[in-house]
Amino acid sequence: MTSSAENDYRNSGFNTRAIHAGQEPDEQTGAVTVPIHVATTYAQQGVNQHKGFEYSRTGNPTRRALEQSIAALEGANHGFAFGSGMGAEDAILRMLQPGDNVLLGNDAYGGTFRLLDKIYGKVGVTWTAVDLTKPDLVASSWADNTKLVWMETPTNPNLTVFDIEAISAAAHLNGGLCVVDNTFATPYLQQPISMGADIVVHSATKYLGGHSDVVGGLVATNNDELAEHLGFVQNGVGAVISPFDCYFLLRGVKTLGVRMDRHCENAQAIVAMLSEHPQIEQVLYPGLPGHLGHETASRQMRNYGGMVSFIPRGGAEAAHRIVTSTKLFTLAESLGAVESLIEVPAGMTHGSTAGSPLEVDPSLVRLSVGIEDIDDLIEDLQAALG
Ligand code: PLP
Repeated sequence: MTSSAENDYRNSGFNTRAIHAGQEPDEQTGAVTVPIHVATTYAQQGVNQHKGFEYSRTGNPTRRALEQSIAALEGANHGFAFGSGMGAEDAILRMLQPGDNVLLGNDAYGGTFRLLDKIYGKVGVTWTAVDLTKPDLVASSWADNTKLVWMETPTNPNLTVFDIEAISAAAHLNGGLCVVDNTFATPYLQQPISMGADIVVHSATKYLGGHSDVVGGLVATNNDELAEHLGFVQNGVGAVISPFDCYFLLRGVKTLGVRMDRHCENAQAIVAMLSEHPQIEQVLYPGLPGHLGHETASRQMRNYGGMVSFIPRGGAEAAHRIVTSTKLFTLAESLGAVESLIEVPAGMTHGSTAGSPLEVDPSLVRLSVGIEDIDDLIEDLQAALG
């Protein structure tokens, strides 16, 4: 079900939207949090005469609240919720036909690459990896069968920054679409639709949920035709999210802004420490003035985010030693929650990119910096670095 953000919050600040859009007090009871509607079906007054809901795969009131929320946060007219970020990505990619091509930013989540390469590849969809730090390459890489550009910014795991406005414009000039995976930035730090992107997709499992207790995916768009496609796929395929998980996400987004402020603040303190540390070869963070995408990030983001990657001296062996030595930073996949996590993407989240143009340096360590007390986080990392 398409869920337009027919709200009054267009001119409100981000945190006001996060707390109120789609989450007004319940009309019947006055409850100030959105009820978890577990009903699978809804009474009809006559055949096909109902109050907007008929069957819970097609539409659910708790899910609708979440869809209105993400639409409002991304400045979009339509929002859709799915059972995972991958389910959301799949719903978008189902617009493709055998023989179509996707331009894929040359750094992206391993699961996205796997979906395109191993699942869509089987039905004749092709991908071309493009270094989107050079937006001119969009035009020169575009083929007759190219339909869209798919990018993350900042990317997972190298934190490369791509220029959303320039890349969207290039895709449109060629008659195609631009899809932005906004998982790392979140709508608090960056709103791609306002820069020309056609579709925004999220692994809501990460910052939007924020507490490592829900898997979900969200999509937002202003394009009515794409919204029709997404609603049709959501109902037709049925990779929907449960009302309980919608509730967790509705609760999570209320504090997104304050959490992101703290994530960014903590990440910056850690970047400052790592940049001076003798055991560190390179720190990757868009907030660093020497980062290739620093200027673009400063233009299109409110702040630089809570994800930090680094390459230690001593290669993969050192990386493995560090990630198994921290105590507060838990060695685990995923990111974006209140607790700090550490991982080696080449062997964990990005294993499926091995041998491809998206392959990750095996010595790269990725941090998801949480909102714990910064002195404790720094002490933990310093002890692990030795
Ligand atoms: N996009 C990005 C950038 C991710 O990091 C992930 C998961 O790590 C996904 C999409 C997939 O989301 P999910 O795990 O919710 O299916």
